[in-house]
Amino acid sequence: MLEKAVKLFTQHPATAAGFLIVAGLAIEVCLLVALGVGRVLSDRKRAALECRRLELEIEKARQQIKTVKEASAAWNGTRKFSVAQKVMECADTFSFYLKPHDGKPLPSFKPGQYLTFQLNVPGLGKPLVRCYSLSDCARTSHYRVTIKRCPPPEAGGHPPGVGSSFFCDQVKVGDILDVKAPNGHFHLDLEQERPVVLISGGVGVTPMVAMANALTEARANREIWFFHGARNGNDHMFKAYMNGLAAENKNVRMHVCYSKPMGAEKSGHDYHHEGRVTVDLFKQLLPSNNFEYFLCGPGAFMESITEDLRRWGVPDEWVHFEAFGPASVKRAAKPEAKVAVTFPPFGGLEVTFAKSGKKVAWQGAGRSLLELAEEARVKIDAGCRAGNCGSCLVAIKSGTVEYIGSHGADVEQGSCLACICRPATALVIDA
Ligand SMILES: Cc1cc2nc3c(=O)[nH]c(=O)nc-3n(C[C@H](O)[C@H](O)[C@H](O)COP(=O)(O)OP(=O)(O)OC[C@H]3O[C@@H](n4cnc5c(N)ncnc54)[C@H](O)[C@@H]3O)c2cc1C
Repeated sequence: MLEKAVKLFTQHPATAAGFLIVAGLAIEVCLLVALGVGRVLSDRKRAALECRRLELEIEKARQQIKTVKEASAAWNGTRKFSVAQKVMECADTFSFYLKPHDGKPLPSFKPGQYLTFQLNVPGLGKPLVRCYSLSDCARTSHYRVTIKRCPPPEAGGHPPGVGSSFFCDQVKVGDILDVKAPNGHFHLDLEQERPVVLISGGVGVTPMVAMANALTEARANREIWFFHGARNGNDHMFKAYMNGLAAENKNVRMHVCYSKPMGAEKSGHDYHHEGRVTVDLFKQLLPSNNFEYFLCGPGAFMESITEDLRRWGVPDEWVHFEAFGPASVKRAAKPEAKVAVTFPPFGGLEVTFAKSGKKVAWQGAGRSLLELAEEARVKIDAGCRAGNCGSCLVAIKSGTVEYIGSHGADVEQGSCLACICRPATALVIDA
């Protein structure tokens, strides 16, 4: 073969050269084709890998959506939570860190909302329903509430509060509690940019800490003025925490008022102002009244501050408040919420308690339907007496009611929250 090729080359060099050129070209074409096929194959491989990567990403996104959906969906009824930590905040006040017993994700909530507990207090025939504000912003791992033992009335003669004492004295780490999902209309809108004034008295600081945390953690830079009133350092819950919050965040201005400072406590060091939180103090410190105000504290504290804010020209829609007990702040009802109450000339509106077979006349005094029932010795369950826990929900058989204040608990069609409404017409209720 080689000999033949040499012979051809020597006898016909041009033909041989042509042959070689053609052969070379053929080889080159083959190589290019092979290379092309290889490239096509590797492109296909790459495309397949890319497809797989996209599939995995889609699956991951699906899982994330599922987790977010699960986490944002509140539960119906009660859910079991275990107490992961119990921390003393100050005298007779404890924070409870609660983890879902089922280990599933926690729904988020709006800063300012509360949890409703059904407490199995020993010796009580049925669960005691109590609401407690979430005292931290939303976290993925746990909820936190902070509970102060409700002291007996000053006149004495009564034991301290049942639910709060149960928490302070008996609830311990590892205990399981029945909890309803976060609820409530008293909350901060994190999308807003208007500067805020957070105003709290005593244990009313709990929703304010949740709001301040939510704002500072969102790095919103929204101007925050935080006014807190306590008797003295003994009652000043979250003291170190609040000082830290103000030191670490330029947009937080903290003003703590002690009404009865203890001997060793110094203004400017332990607290900022001696006395109570008042609108006069706001006038001295705030650059204007152009803020959104959030208030929570004892009834008298909230009544005087809301009234003075109104006098200072702050529109009602910029003032939000939460009552921890029976609602006492009276606000102008929104026009659409007003129901014309017409009284018959004699005897008032008739309220019939169908189950107990009692009829009473409601004369339009400033009482709720619940108080009317209690006076008539008709049993209606009650918890917060502020329209939040839902214990006093009662079915209306006929007639209509009007609400005295806003309520957090949902009202089923054809029912009413007796603690926060009154008859608007003659009424028959299932109690
Ligand atoms: C939305 C909301 C959020 C809340 N958030 C918080 C929070 O974050 N932290 C917190 O600590 N609290 C909070 N509360 C208040 C809480 O729900 C309870 O109202 C509070 O703990 C008192 O309940 P208790 O069972 O301890 O007291 P109760 O047993 O209901 O007693 C209340 C008061 O009545 C007195 N009393 C008892 N018997 C009588 C009697 N026969 N006659 C007259 N007085 C009597 C008691 O001594 C006590 O002073 C909140 C309330 C609401 C509505």
